[in-house]
Amino acid sequence: MTHPVEAQMAVEAVSKSYEAGLRQRVVLDGCSFMLEKGKLTVLIGPSGCGKSTLINIMAGYEKADAGMATLEGRPVGEPAADRLVVFQETALFPWMTAFQNVAYGPRVQRKLPDKEVEARTMELLERVGLQDFRDKYPMQLSGGMQRRAELARALINQPKVMFLDEPFRGLDAMTRELMQEYYLKLYEGSQQTTLFVTSEIDEALLIADTLLIMTNRPGRIAKTLKIALPRPREPKVLTSQAYLRYKEEALEILHEEAVKAFSGGSKAAVDFLEAYADRDQAHS
Ligand code: ADP
Ligand code: MG
Repeated sequence: MTHPVEAQMAVEAVSKSYEAGLRQRVVLDGCSFMLEKGKLTVLIGPSGCGKSTLINIMAGYEKADAGMATLEGRPVGEPAADRLVVFQETALFPWMTAFQNVAYGPRVQRKLPDKEVEARTMELLERVGLQDFRDKYPMQLSGGMQRRAELARALINQPKVMFLDEPFRGLDAMTRELMQEYYLKLYEGSQQTTLFVTSEIDEALLIADTLLIMTNRPGRIAKTLKIALPRPREPKVLTSQAYLRYKEEALEILHEEAVKAFSGGSKAAVDFLEAYADRDQAHS
């Protein structure tokens, strides 16, 4: 029996070009997909394929040349509180403590009683392991802790859709793994409709309900994989047979795209191929 799928958000035949010198650079060309309500959709693709452009269009920061993004069936307009983006750069207020940063959104909105805001803030701080750091300022926190505080600060607002654009890029490998575990707990405790962008296959497969694999520019969805790994997910899932099969299938497509871009002379594609040089190990 199949359950009806409820689309919280959809991207319908979106195209987008930018001027590049005298020519037009086609970044997205007839790109379509949807975000299932309450699910974690991960978008993966080589650097420069148009992932951030897609988020910008969905969040309302950019307009599509053709096609549209819809939220609950209606075309999206200007950026609004129902669609929240967490960027790679830190956005914590340096003059506020971790607690004040996380509580900021609901306090400004004044829709909840103070007690409730406090309780939710503490719950989120606990879930990201910052309960003992509630009164520290961002400067007094490590990079990973800052990122965790930021995730909590975004999630407390419970937007209809949350976008995370390579949130853990630039963190060292150990910190990144830790972040992924915290993020899994946060997501699994919230069931927040989410689009998470990454260029890391293990990160993608560890967290995703659905994996969208993008083609190289012009960007479209090359393949949609439903990741039917059990939840709550544990990092040890990364060694399961099912996981390895998903990884093999995803890498196949990513590799094809990187080769295409490589023959087109893209520097990003060269980096990408190097980053995936260990794919043969994953096959054996
Ligand atoms: P990704 O996030 O997948 O790395 P982006 O969406 O940031 O890719 O960019 C896709 C392509 O669009 C890149 O070639 C980039 O240079 C170009 N691009 C993005 N934003 C702009 C802009 N505002 N003006 C011109 N070109 C842009
Ligand atoms: Mg990007």
